[in-house]
Amino acid sequence: MWRLIFLGLVVTLIVYLFKRQVIQSSKAKQDSAEDKHIEDIDMVKCAKCSVHLPRSEAYLVANDFYCSKAHIEKQT
Ligand SMILES: [Zn+2]
Repeated sequence: MWRLIFLGLVVTLIVYLFKRQVIQSSKAKQDSAEDKHIEDIDMVKCAKCSVHLPRSEAYLVANDFYCSKAHIEKQT
C-alpha cells in the first residue's frame, strides 16, 4: 500500500518537473525569437512626418527616408 502511494508521489513529481521544464524552454524560445525579430527590423524615420517604419517599407530619396510617396512629393 505505501509503495503505491510512494510511486504515485514520484510520478506526480516527475510530471510536475517535466511540465515546468517544457514551459521554461518554450518561454525562453519565445523570448529569443522576439529579440531576434526586433533586431531584424531596421527602423527608419520619415523626414516629413517623423513616423518610424521598417527600412524595407520606406522610400529612400536623396539619403532621406519617407513613409509614403505623398510625403516625398510634398518635401520637394
Ligand atoms: Zn511621413
